[in-house]
Amino acid sequence: MRFEVLTLFPEMLTGVFEASIIGRARQAGLISVACTDIRAYTKDKHRRVDDTPYGGGYGMVMQCQPVVDCIRDVKSRLRGSTRVIYLSPQGRLLDNGVVKELAGYDNLVLLCGHYEGIDERIIELEVDEELSVGNYVLTGGELPAAIVVDAVARTVDGVLPAEECFEEESFKDGLLEYPQYTRPRVFEGLSVPEVLLNGNHAEIEKWKAAQSIDRTLRKRPDLLKETEG
Ligand code: SAM
Repeated sequence: MRFEVLTLFPEMLTGVFEASIIGRARQAGLISVACTDIRAYTKDKHRRVDDTPYGGGYGMVMQCQPVVDCIRDVKSRLRGSTRVIYLSPQGRLLDNGVVKELAGYDNLVLLCGHYEGIDERIIELEVDEELSVGNYVLTGGELPAAIVVDAVARTVDGVLPAEECFEEESFKDGLLEYPQYTRPRVFEGLSVPEVLLNGNHAEIEKWKAAQSIDRTLRKRPDLLKETEG
């Protein structure tokens, strides 16, 4: 799977995509992640990519020409199914269902806005979908793009050591994951639950299932309501 991140600040993302599981998956050729600098496409002699908004208002708006040219150039080099996503607080909220849906594409083009956002005509012309990471406003789309890459990449075969790694995690079947413990058995007077130490796998599975339901009820009852509906 291929991720193409279009941004004015590629340097914000280099470290994120080089480290840990995502970095290893790239090295192993399981996924590919490229960051393209939108500014490289501007035809403005001062290399400007933004301007003041028509009708007045605070801040600057990213202009059509460099962004549209950048999207079209990147897309022209892609083969297979492609979805162009503009990261935006006005978009569909990212959740596990959306992640699974996006994992079905060969290529995701992730457009990061900055400043006051982008000229609306870019969305009309080139964007398939707007996607939000939450009901709050960030300074740019770079962190949301990194979230999308991370969440989608870990569902790609081979990125995690085994499918169970994400199959058992929170949001599977609308439930949160059971609590996790590692060594030592006792820390500052708090013991690991006895059931996890007795080697009885049937009992352990029963305990995990009960814990999942219990903590979903306590922490995120809204998830259970969604599943009912
Ligand atoms: N003026 C825009 C509005 O009110 O809808 C917000 C622009 S925001 C300051 C700058 C950029 O950050 C956006 O173009 C978008 O790419 C990104 N962004 C901000 N919040 C986001 C969110 N919750 N989800 C995804 N992207 C977001």
